[in-house]
Amino acid sequence: MSETTSRTELSALGEFGLIERIASRVQLQHATSIKGIGDDAAVFDPQGFHQVVTTDMLVEGVHFDLGYVPLKHLGYKAVVVNVSDVCAMNATPKRITVALALSNRFPVEAIDELYEGMLLACKNYGVDLVGGDTCSSPSGLVISVTAIGEARKEDLVYRSGAKDNDLLVVSGDLGGAYMGLQVLEREKAVFKETGAQPDLAGHDYILERQLKPEARKDIIELFRKLEVKPTAMIDISDGLASEAIHLARSSGSGVRIYDEKIPIDPSTYKTARDFDLDPSTCALNGGEDYELLFTIAQADYEKVKGNPSITVIGHMTDKASGCMLVDKQGGLHELRAQGWDAFLRK
Ligand code: ADP
Ligand code: MG
Repeated sequence: MSETTSRTELSALGEFGLIERIASRVQLQHATSIKGIGDDAAVFDPQGFHQVVTTDMLVEGVHFDLGYVPLKHLGYKAVVVNVSDVCAMNATPKRITVALALSNRFPVEAIDELYEGMLLACKNYGVDLVGGDTCSSPSGLVISVTAIGEARKEDLVYRSGAKDNDLLVVSGDLGGAYMGLQVLEREKAVFKETGAQPDLAGHDYILERQLKPEARKDIIELFRKLEVKPTAMIDISDGLASEAIHLARSSGSGVRIYDEKIPIDPSTYKTARDFDLDPSTCALNGGEDYELLFTIAQADYEKVKGNPSITVIGHMTDKASGCMLVDKQGGLHELRAQGWDAFLRK
């Protein structure tokens, strides 16, 4: 929990005091945010754009463990996971609201830290915090963020638009967030047993992937620059295999992913090996990478070719061909949303 030395009880501030404290730190960036915190509801001007709305809830003990997640990082991540969903529609995030259930074990300073992370993400992604709700919780912390984004109608991308033979493309690299979590869990277990201080040295990249993920708003901007519109898109929160299956099912097609094409960072690869895990399996099933998985028409290949931010990992097929992983020897395996048993330890 908070490592700050002073502790101000929430009860000393009260709900209204807390809301005022939050409001005083918020600066609206968009003139289209007409009314933010302070009335019964926020008001904004859509200026003719289509609006996209998404909510993600993070529950203590289910989605995060305050034993090793700093509150500032948690606040940042709570915003990022919502921004990622807006980006996955090929839309630009503009506004969020934040609902909190808080127990009195959290001092005001802890809430400050949480909002510091949320407001940093707001700044980085150009998002206005325009409202929320605050209530009490018997013990755990619950954070529910709703994000609103906008796009021109013709720019919106759904999961359902992929066509047979479209290329399957992914941004960044995969499996890092999962391996970061494995390191954190291992060090927590060691600490519990022996009291030894966590040894996190050399794991910067994968720890950052787990604790401070980023949403790929830059990829949405890249599409505009390259004049590419994906035919279908989804963000990777549950793992590549699961999301590829979602895309295929929604589009009424099949999919083929080539194992050797899946982008994996060297540090992810090495840590997976150290844990006796198959790196590809971590990338396929790990989750929480918040990269974008999308399909493009083959005719657009020339526009994306060689771009270091994205990798073509496969293609769509007819529905009857199913959802398949092609291994390094060319063998076909059915993709499964949780392929742990089949691929875990090699
Ligand atoms: P009401 O009782 O009408 O729902 P509240 O007292 O809950 O009003 O909220 C007052 C204002 O403060 C509203 O603008 C609301 O959006 C905002 N607000 C409440 N809680 C939060 C929060 N945790 N973060 C940001 N804004 C909040
Ligand atoms: Mg309210």
